[in-house]
Order: sequence, then structure tokens, then C-alpha cells
Amino acid sequence: MRMTRYFLPVLKENPAEAQIVSHRYMLRAGMIKQQAAGIYSWLPLGYRVLKRIEQIVHEEQARAGHIPLLMPTLQPADLWRESGRYDDYGQEMLRITDRQKRELLYGPTNEEMITDIFRSHVSSYKDLPMTLYHIQWKFRDEMRPRFGVMRGREFLMKDGYNFDVDRDAALHAYNRHMVSYLRTYERMGLTAIPMRADSGPIGGEDTHEFLVLAATGESEVFFDSAVTDLRLGAREVDYDNREEVASVCKEFTTLYARTDETHDAALFDAIPEERRKVARGIEVGQIFYFGTKYSEAMGATVVTAEGTKVPVEMGSHGIGVSRLLGAIIEASHDEKGIIWPEGVTPFPVGIVNLKQGDAGTDAACDSLYKALAAVGLEALYDDRDERAGAKFATMDLIGLPWRITVGPRGLANGVVELTSRRTGVSEEMSAEAAVAKVAAIYANV
Ligand code: ATP
Ligand code: MG
Repeated sequence: MRMTRYFLPVLKENPAEAQIVSHRYMLRAGMIKQQAAGIYSWLPLGYRVLKRIEQIVHEEQARAGHIPLLMPTLQPADLWRESGRYDDYGQEMLRITDRQKRELLYGPTNEEMITDIFRSHVSSYKDLPMTLYHIQWKFRDEMRPRFGVMRGREFLMKDGYNFDVDRDAALHAYNRHMVSYLRTYERMGLTAIPMRADSGPIGGEDTHEFLVLAATGESEVFFDSAVTDLRLGAREVDYDNREEVASVCKEFTTLYARTDETHDAALFDAIPEERRKVARGIEVGQIFYFGTKYSEAMGATVVTAEGTKVPVEMGSHGIGVSRLLGAIIEASHDEKGIIWPEGVTPFPVGIVNLKQGDAGTDAACDSLYKALAAVGLEALYDDRDERAGAKFATMDLIGLPWRITVGPRGLANGVVELTSRRTGVSEEMSAEAAVAKVAAIYANV
């Protein structure tokens, strides 16, 4: 993409309404525009990152064997009357009446609707296990929408629902979600710690939240610092192997890590003092096992191998897709701007032309752009007629992990400059070597 043909409305001044760094940088980098309290347009740069995050979520759900579908944003109120949540949900639910005076709501979550789909089509244990999920906009009329996309009213969520014949199978689905979420967050460059949490309005007996540590996080968290060293890494996990999946979950949930809702001072005090940490965190996901809460209320049953009819065992599992942009920026930035992890960056690499209009430099940038495209990397090429300083400032603000700088002086020596946004370290090398190096980095992402 050439910057002169792109829509990148970068702001020079700090927007007064933004209280935290991620919100400030998302506005300044031209990623989002607020349309009403907690409701945003996703401008091209922000939209690219949102799509990258969705893509990673889809890939990891597929790896775990979960099936994508798409449910609507509007739901009939009657479905929610069946579960009893139409009245329970209160003012967070946006209620709508259509021209026929039918009551609808903008879905804050989808347990009822997915249970309705299940009961309409599935009745035998032979069709199980089954996990269905979608990535869809939600609406919650939050009391205090704030921090940009972190606490929006309209926000994008991945929500998945498992259906299993018995409790053991449902607990395996819970564990499978935990492992797939760990891998999802790691691919986004995040350390998200599973913490024992409280189940709230979803209800149920087992639940973990995934928290990214950040001073601006809304949750107070208590943990053993050793938990921050755990990584799933490149290991292959067989998602059908119950013992293997359970042992990974055990590895990640044995050390103390809890939110304030479930915090236990006595257990916490048993941790060696130097590892006892109290901090703040951003909730980027939550998994629940709730058994037959919805299936009993809504009559979703299956016939078991023994021929008995039982309410299906369920759980629900959510990832805050749009909130993740804020969380990633909170975890990865400096005073100049965002530092995107390679896994989610809007463009893998930027090209800065130091002397726009100089025939040799322009030609070198063009051929570099094509060489990057030939190895599958779409560069953002700053071809504006601007000072070098302004171009560097824009690149630093929007945070592409790699920048290739091309100028007449370097070209005279046959070199360009490759710079890492994270370390600031620059290296001179031939354009071919720069392409090969960036390609090798992204081959492992
Ligand atoms: P919170 O405690 O932050 O209000 P929640 O526990 O009510 O969130 P869930 O029902 O668990 O939210 O939804 C799944 C995920 O959706 C959350 O882990 C979070 O990442 C994201 N999410 C929830 N509410 C919002 C919101 N208002 N704006 C953006 N993302 C949200
Ligand atoms: Mg939650």
C-alpha cells in the first residue's frame, strides 16, 4: 500500500478525551473514530489489525476442532424469557421494538440462541462432542464506556459454546478452550494468565479469566510471579487427548493466580514473599463450564448410548476481539507510539523513501516494494513528499515492527537500512538481504 493512496488520518496532537495510552495511540494513528459513547468506526489501519486478530482466533479454533457459524446481532426477546435472563440482565441489555411491536434485543452474548439452534437439530450423543462459535458484534449498554475499544458498548467478541454428553466430556471441552486460548494469545505476542474467577450472570461452577498485566487494567489480580514465566511455545498439543490437554491446563493453573472476586488471602500468603504479586490486569477472555443451566431451561436434550434422554452439558467461552487491540497496545508501546507484535501488525514492514521525487530513490523503493510483495509481504510505503523526520515519526507512531529506509547516500553504496521498531537497532544491507531477512522473520510467525 502506498501511503499517498491510503486513508491514514494521523493526528499530531494528543486527543484530550483519551485517558490511557492505547486509546490515545489508536486515535492518533488513525485506527478508530468514535461515533457515540462506546461506539466506534474502524478506520483502515485499525480494521486491518482487527482482521488479523480475528484470523488468529479462527485458526486456533479450527486447530482445536471447533466449528464457525454466524448468528445475528438481533435476537427475539422470547428466547431470553425461556432462560429467565430477559428480566435478569437489566439495563445493560439494549431492548428494541420493531414496527410489528415485536420485542427484540441486541445480543450481549448468545447462550440462548445457540441452545435454540442445537435443540432444533441435534438429539443424539452420536453427534457429540460439538463446539460451535462465532465472531460477532455484541452490545452491552455499559454504565461507563471508556478507554476506547477496551470498554465499548458495541464490541466484537468471539463466543463459543460446547455441547457434550456428560460432565467429563464437557470438562475436556473446557480444557481444550483453555489451551487453544493460551496459544491464541501467545500468537498475538501477549502473556495472558488464566486466573480463577467468578461466574457472574453467565452462571456455572468453573470459570477462568485470561488477564494481560497492565497498570491501566480494570481488574485487581493476585498471583505468584512464577506464573508469568509459563509459555506454551511451539509444542504440539493433541486436542483429542484428554489427559494431555488436562496436563497442560494443570501446568498453567496450579500456581496461584486469582482475580479479586476469588482471592484467598491465606493461600496467597503461603507463596514465598518475593513471588507474591498484586497488580492490575485487562480481561481478554473468559471460559465457563455451566453444565445444564441453559439446556434444562430450554429443553435441549440428547439420547445417550444407553438410550436415556439427558439435558446436554454445556459451557461458553469468550474472547474480547476488539478489546485485544487495546490490550496489545497497553502491553507493547513506547513514548513514540505503538510497537506491534509481528503476529498482529497491520503491515509487516514499512518503506521510507528519504528523497521522494529522486528518480533513483523512487525506482529503488518501487523495486523493493515489488520484491517484498513477491515473498508475500505487503509493505506500507511512505511515498509522501515529506521530511524524513515526519516520515519516521509516522512510522514510529503506527508501530510496524520493521522499517526499511531507502536514501540516495545508501543506494550509492548499494545498501538500505533495516530497523527494528522494538529495539531501535538499524543495520545496513543490500535490498535483497533486507527482503530475505524480513521474509525469514515472518516465516516463523
Ligand atoms: P467485563 O468484566 O470486563 O465487563 P465480562 O466478564 O462481562 O467483561 P464476558 O461476558 O466474559 O465479559 O465476555 C467475554 C470477553 O469479551 C471479555 O473477557 C472481554 O475481553 C470482552 N468484553 C466484555 N465486555 C466488553 C466491553 N464492554 N468492551 C469490549 N470488550 C468487552
Ligand atoms: Mg468475563
